[in-house]
Amino acid sequence: MSLLIALVLAAAPEAKLVPPSPPPAAASGASGSIDPAAATRAYLDQLPAEQRARSNSYFEGGYWLHLWDFLWGASILLLLLYGGFSKRMRDWAERVTRFAPLQTAIYYLQFLVITSVLTFPLSVYRDWFREHQYGLSNLTFAGWLGEEGKGFLVAAIFGSLVLMALYAVVRRLPRTWWVWGAGVSLLFLTFFALIVPVLIVPLFNSPKRLTDPRVVAPILSLSRANGIETGEVWEIDASKQTTRMSANVSGILGTERITLNDNLLNRGSLPEIEAVMGHEMGHYVLNHVYKLILEFGILIVIGFAVLRTAFERLHARNPRWGLRGVDDVAGLPLAALILSGYFFVLTPLLNTIIRTSEYEADVFGLNAARQPDGFAQTALKLSEYRKLEPGRLEEAFFFDHPSGRTRIFTAMRWKAEHPETWK
Ligand SMILES: [Zn+2]
Repeated sequence: MSLLIALVLAAAPEAKLVPPSPPPAAASGASGSIDPAAATRAYLDQLPAEQRARSNSYFEGGYWLHLWDFLWGASILLLLLYGGFSKRMRDWAERVTRFAPLQTAIYYLQFLVITSVLTFPLSVYRDWFREHQYGLSNLTFAGWLGEEGKGFLVAAIFGSLVLMALYAVVRRLPRTWWVWGAGVSLLFLTFFALIVPVLIVPLFNSPKRLTDPRVVAPILSLSRANGIETGEVWEIDASKQTTRMSANVSGILGTERITLNDNLLNRGSLPEIEAVMGHEMGHYVLNHVYKLILEFGILIVIGFAVLRTAFERLHARNPRWGLRGVDDVAGLPLAALILSGYFFVLTPLLNTIIRTSEYEADVFGLNAARQPDGFAQTALKLSEYRKLEPGRLEEAFFFDHPSGRTRIFTAMRWKAEHPETWK
């Protein structure tokens, strides 16, 4: 058995590590100084016009998809209410069992099947067809369907648990349920963050500890310098699904880990990988997971307050829906409609909360890894799926990461003040 494991480990592919490319002249410091704006322009101009048009079209299409996604989902929820389907689904669940938590789960499973079937055409277009159209997916249709199936099972199991808990709270605490409901939602959010790297990610990919010493040695040095002792570095076979380069920090309360995807290891140079690692370590050292949970926690509490008020009003005005009250699981489409509307309206705020953390991690990463050109070159490569030069308001509203322009400028501004890194 151990021999088999040793063979599998030995067969693990190593990072390709492309050689680093030199910065454009304006970013090199050869003239004795660096003008951050001019250096940024020189980097941005490296992207061919055709690639830029393609990435703009992909990213801008995403704005519309976000809207269609919301409207399509809202129509399905309204159909469940006005068509009388929701009350029939509840009645059927009540005939199957007298046990209230099980009724909630049975109702939810019907709800999940119906909404999954009705949103399927949009999912096929957005997540399979369109990804292939832009050369971003490596999945066959069968492979994609398999992943959707797994996602469905995860949603069935965890969604049932969450809703059984939430409806139990609503039934027991008819006056203060919205505060406790928000609390329970936050607990589940934390629980989900805890199990994602250890239980959820392995359902879709095979993460393993990063072993290539050429990459591991500089990363461990960077970790030690920044006081990251428990943080583990993993690599993941993301190329199974996508051509995107990326990395992330996941986990909480002891399951934290930094994961580099194999596209980054195979298409990035060592300075680029170090720049990305510096950014990911920034998320870690700055405790972004905890801060984001607190920030989203505030929005969730407000969301539940909105839910309580809006639910009571809409329920009172629409007796034909056949809902008995907020503790009736047949009201789930209405609750989902209110909360999805609330979070849809908050899109610019949600993006800004995340983008602000990302910018903090960018600045931390530059100071830690000291690879401004590696960082700029990665930002340029990420333009495959993120618009490089949006308008200022466009960036504030629609971007959950800084744009390529912002990131390259941040790097060049840093480099201008650090002549020891000029080359
Ligand atoms: Zn990040």
